[in-house]
Amino acid sequence: MSTPLTHILAARIRADGPIPMSSYMAECLLHPTHGYYTTRDPFGAAGDFTTAPEISQMFGEMLGLSMAQAWMDQGQPSRFILAELGPGRGTLMADVLRVGRAVPGFVEAAQVVFVEASEVLRRAQATRVPDARWVDSVDQIPADAPLFLLANEFFDALPVRQFQRQKVDWAEVCVGLDAGGALQLTLRPAPGAIPNRHSDTQPGDIVEVCPALPGIIAEVATRVANGGCAIIVDYGDWHSLGDTVQALRAHTPEPILAAPGAADLTAHVDFEAIAQAAQKQVSAMVPQGILLERLGITSRAQTLAKSLTGAALDAHIAAHRRLTHPDEMGHLFKAIALGPKGGPFPPGFV
Ligand code: SAH
Repeated sequence: MSTPLTHILAARIRADGPIPMSSYMAECLLHPTHGYYTTRDPFGAAGDFTTAPEISQMFGEMLGLSMAQAWMDQGQPSRFILAELGPGRGTLMADVLRVGRAVPGFVEAAQVVFVEASEVLRRAQATRVPDARWVDSVDQIPADAPLFLLANEFFDALPVRQFQRQKVDWAEVCVGLDAGGALQLTLRPAPGAIPNRHSDTQPGDIVEVCPALPGIIAEVATRVANGGCAIIVDYGDWHSLGDTVQALRAHTPEPILAAPGAADLTAHVDFEAIAQAAQKQVSAMVPQGILLERLGITSRAQTLAKSLTGAALDAHIAAHRRLTHPDEMGHLFKAIALGPKGGPFPPGFV
């Protein structure tokens, strides 16, 4: 299926030559008129994909209680910034605020700040969290109070560059045109691109690099160096190796060049890159299922189950399994936390 962006990108490539994968992803996701996130709310059964906070309120409850305990462990600052990167429909933050009311003073001390690129999603977020403020990037988050930050499935939406190991050097995977003018992947020499990955790669291997990630993480680390924390959850693993860029439309994978702007495009997150950018202020990486178990999701699930019957009970049990089971999201998704120099990390992280 060709889309308006297919033609815009083909014209640009005809004029200027092949573009890096990161430029392709950036245009597909955030082109001002035809970008995926700029034009739609992609979540839910009628959309293209679903996320942990949309699967069950328990996800936001567990992260919210961990945040609130971190706030208490740090002396309950009377004013703090409760920020979220890429809040989607605002469901996670709504659940965090609801459960946070159980902790006296927590919600009253919080100023919610959303970092969100999409106007469509800002409107959806405003219906669930009307008191939020919105900014365009992490460096615009107010710096006059401690920062407590959440990010679920934000970093996978950031564009990556892809490099393929050749016999002696590297080539960059780019989007170019075939003889008939259709988009196709092509390689461009990239001498010396990632010299530190020679020892653990073979010719043909792909390594992905997310150019925006280190700056965002370093900014968050600086903000929480003297107080606050960050909890980051996403799919991915330690140490990038292999091609993980994928397109999803109507819950079905499709070729990444098939429908630019009409399909979600993501890449797995390299948690090692997060740890490197956060330096000494980072916890160990933990699988989502283990994190949620540590935070008490099973007893919460049992409590909620008591008031449910029939199809609602079945859906609740399935949601618990989906969030935690290693064959579902429990192992593919990982979490990591940032904290002040010398700790502590929020509960659930070591
Ligand atoms: N956290 C939500 C949504 C994940 S989808 C959930 O778990 O349901 C990715 C989110 O990041 C969307 O809200 C999208 O609009 C936003 N986003 C993607 N790229 C962004 C960027 N560069 N800057 C700010 N927000 C971005």
